[in-house]
Amino acid sequence: TNGSSTDSGKPRDKLLGRLLTEEFDEDSCLSRYQSSLYRKPSPYKPSRYLVSKLRSYEMLHKRCGPGTKAYKKATESLGENYSSKSVGECRYIVWIAVYGLGNRVLTLASLFLYALLTDRIMLVDQRKDINDLLCEPFPGTSWLLPLDFPLTDQLDSFDRESPRCYGTMLKNHAINSTTIIHSYLCLYIIHDYDDHDKMFFCEKDQLLIRQVPWLVFNSNLYFIPSLWLIPSFQFELSKLFPQKETVFHHLARYLFHPTNHVWGMITRSYNAYLSRADERLGIQVRVFSKPAGYFQHVMDQILACTQREKLLPEMSVSKSQVTNNTSRSLKLKAVLVTSLYPEYSENLRQMYWEGSSSTGETVQVYQPSQEMYQQTDNKLHDQKALAEIYLLSLTDHIVTSDSSTFGYVAQGLGGLKPWILYKPKNNTAPEPPCVRAVSMEPCFLRAPLYGCQAKEVKITPFVMYCEDRITGLKLV
Ligand code: GDP
Repeated sequence: TNGSSTDSGKPRDKLLGRLLTEEFDEDSCLSRYQSSLYRKPSPYKPSRYLVSKLRSYEMLHKRCGPGTKAYKKATESLGENYSSKSVGECRYIVWIAVYGLGNRVLTLASLFLYALLTDRIMLVDQRKDINDLLCEPFPGTSWLLPLDFPLTDQLDSFDRESPRCYGTMLKNHAINSTTIIHSYLCLYIIHDYDDHDKMFFCEKDQLLIRQVPWLVFNSNLYFIPSLWLIPSFQFELSKLFPQKETVFHHLARYLFHPTNHVWGMITRSYNAYLSRADERLGIQVRVFSKPAGYFQHVMDQILACTQREKLLPEMSVSKSQVTNNTSRSLKLKAVLVTSLYPEYSENLRQMYWEGSSSTGETVQVYQPSQEMYQQTDNKLHDQKALAEIYLLSLTDHIVTSDSSTFGYVAQGLGGLKPWILYKPKNNTAPEPPCVRAVSMEPCFLRAPLYGCQAKEVKITPFVMYCEDRITGLKLV
């Protein structure tokens, strides 16, 4: 298919419920308008309010983006003589590329939502390979932070101890409680952040932070669940997302469109290995133990989970059995395995070749890449990672590994509630091996639980502790 209707004859919804603007040229980024050829229509529709907010954001980004007068004026305010009058009409958020691709995608979504809530525009650090992975999401402008941005050389110094980061300033009593007279501020929201950094999530700190024209985020966390616990954001958020578990799902489908090169990888895999199957299962195997690699107990866990949950058929007991059903109606199940290591999929493949499945289904196993170890910022490696995340999101069901942001992105893009493989303890497969997620939302793995939000964490019905991290929070 490549026309405007789907196999079922219904018109193809290439703008995804008007989540996407029509303004882009199709060829520059094929994935943007072609995704609907590969995905089933999402059962979750974006609210009209979200759609109109996105359109106004796009206008704001055009007015304030790189190359505009407003951008020039705002960057000049980063010089020595800052006064709040010299800033101009636009305010900004800068995203820095840190940690793996899953982490990066989750923080892009978090910062973008924060930008929507606070009338800022988001610009992204392009010194790494983001431009080889993702297309521009906003029409008629660019989201790439120009390389001559005045703070470029300082971006990598905004760490835990940096005197320009909000938490450190609080710690050093460098901020007065009503005004901040700085043109920029960094926010350190990395897994090892401390109680001062977590003050970002407090209402009164938000009032202060609002005044600063440039915010630079050094973050590797999906912090959206805790934005919902800031009282002044809650009303707006419920209007944007009446279905709370769809936040990342919609933001991801709006923001993340693989470049043509990555889209080629995705569609070639899909057409060769997934498109003809009657059912598609994704299995994401991330091994966090040190050393990582292939372990029998992880293999056992994958089999226990998928067979118990009826995601994969058991093996037929009678050894001699040959399926004598020669008709072509045999069900074909495609299994997409993603892992740094080849053995997990290789074992599965052999198993379903050496013996027949008890249901008579044909099981076909496919793993696109075997990279062996993480090589973030190697362009082709990252492109493969994005292609695999996207392919996982095109399956009907997925099994993911605990606390993996790689899996979170796939489940959110796909609108899938995953089965999460629990973290193994003492080199044994946990019992039960996996749990079905309550919602498709990613987990905020290090949510602030005890500060100004302590009460909200306990009483808010639409946040829960994550299935795979009891001290993490997710939206349901
Ligand atoms: P997380 O560490 O599981 O939360 O996920 P991240 O995506 O942030 O970091 C892991 C990185 O390791 C990925 O971005 C890839 O570079 C690499 N990686 C891990 N698992 C896979 C996989 O299954 N396939 C590919 N191609 N790369 C992987």
